[in-house]
Amino acid sequence: MVRGSCLCGGVRFEADAIELLSHCHCSMCRKAHGAAYGTFANAYKTGFRWVSGEELVQPYRSSAHNERAFCRVCGSNLPYTSEDADTWVIPAGALDDDPGVRPALQMFTADKAPWHELDASLPSFPGHVPGYEPPEEEGA
Ligand SMILES: [Zn+2]
Ligand SMILES: [Zn+2]
Repeated sequence: MVRGSCLCGGVRFEADAIELLSHCHCSMCRKAHGAAYGTFANAYKTGFRWVSGEELVQPYRSSAHNERAFCRVCGSNLPYTSEDADTWVIPAGALDDDPGVRPALQMFTADKAPWHELDASLPSFPGHVPGYEPPEEEGA
């Protein structure tokens, strides 16, 4: 099991397992995370639960097809999902335990911050990853 929480500790969650870790360099992830890129951990819906503070989770619709979430108290990014998705998308920085997997790919590299050098050891995709549902739809 992998546990996670926000900065203030008000929101806690856990997932049975993390299936995939990926970096997203799109402009929305960069802003939402205040960082060079966002790293996301995908967990199957059936294995995800809120442990405490679910009432503090504030959704934010960042595009027509995507809703992010953050803590109302401390502003930390929090897990989100959608009705048609199979997984929860968990901001990896919120994890308290080692997810057991390592980043497998990076997406939206065409939109990366000009001051950031990409990790050349990872498979790179300029936009969406074919066959993979990314956490954000750039420009949508
Ligand atoms: Zn918080
Ligand atoms: Zn993104």
